[in-house]
Amino acid sequence: MFELRDLGWDDEWAKRFAPYAADGLVPGRVAIEFNYIYRVFAASGELQVQHSGKLRHEAESLSAVGDWVAVRPTAGEETGTIEAILPRRSKFSRKVAGELTVEQIVAANIDSVFIVMGLDGDYNPRRLERYLILAYESGARPVVILNKSDVAEHLAEDMDEIQGLAVGIPVHAISAKQKSGIEVIAGHLGPGRTGALLGSSGVGKSTLVNALLGEEKFKTKDVRAHDSRGRHTTRHRHLIVLPESRGLLVDTPGMRELQLWSQGDGARDTFEDILELAQGCHFTDCRHRDEPRCAVKQAIEDGTLAADRLDGFLKLQDELKSLESRKDVRAQIDAKRKWKPVANAMKKFYKDRDQ
Ligand code: GDP
Ligand code: ZN
Repeated sequence: MFELRDLGWDDEWAKRFAPYAADGLVPGRVAIEFNYIYRVFAASGELQVQHSGKLRHEAESLSAVGDWVAVRPTAGEETGTIEAILPRRSKFSRKVAGELTVEQIVAANIDSVFIVMGLDGDYNPRRLERYLILAYESGARPVVILNKSDVAEHLAEDMDEIQGLAVGIPVHAISAKQKSGIEVIAGHLGPGRTGALLGSSGVGKSTLVNALLGEEKFKTKDVRAHDSRGRHTTRHRHLIVLPESRGLLVDTPGMRELQLWSQGDGARDTFEDILELAQGCHFTDCRHRDEPRCAVKQAIEDGTLAADRLDGFLKLQDELKSLESRKDVRAQIDAKRKWKPVANAMKKFYKDRDQ
């Protein structure tokens, strides 16, 4: 059994759900996805569900961990059918290129995204910037977690550098291994609030999750007060309910690989090649679109630069231009979210880089 509010349910979701409730459907939150079979947390407990045929044909994208869905339960069984996906408040996605570019949602309805970076050899402000862009695009609030403070050699300097880069974004130094400072995670979450961890392999995400779950607490009934299944259930769920109403965490392989994908498509990677070529453009403020004597366009014609590199670059520029307008839309959605510092940080990042 679950208390829906502990899972993030609120009046706004209830309002969205009202028409489905009238139709006999029950709300559930997707906790795990495997081969188009989902397990959702619902008031009655855990249900194993699949999409209705109709939804499979109509939906732009299928459910993802974190989604709130409308389920038609099968009478007398712990199964059911997903009939609808409630509109997402935030989402992490990747574009899967094929004949048609399809958006694959990796996680949905994340309130805060914790960008984890190690204060050891992993420390890399450039990579953090890329994660900040991912976070910004998702609609979740970014929080920077500098882990491994126990082995940091220049903690104060590193903190300063990151704070200067992520203006307006909370930055915390912690040690997941020593369980020191980890309460800041719960501080940004709390009852019914959902977080996700972003960061490259080895930064300490698993260690942090384990520390948050707490082995001792894990063994007590606290964590499974609402979960009648076996002791380790929580671990296998990608939507993790933290003990003592500290909030929820999404930890999926998809989230973990997000950075790899975004590096793989090149579009968000560094554009050193283009920036270098741009030095040769006739106009110093050349946008490499239709300006004459553009060295970047010339390189494509000469075959020394792949056309999709420039496409990626231009796409990113466009995204940045729409920062302000997106910020306004978001401000309406959640007046508490402070997007301006994020937008400014992004602008500064590109300005510095483009210089
Ligand atoms: P993940 O790939 O992000 O899940 O990283 P892991 O949690 O598997 O951690 C990678 C390595 O870093 C492991 O050897 C951890 O013991 C170590 N580690 C994690 N957190 C800390 C920390 O706060 N301090 C130190 N010194 N090591 C840590
Ligand atoms: Zn140019």
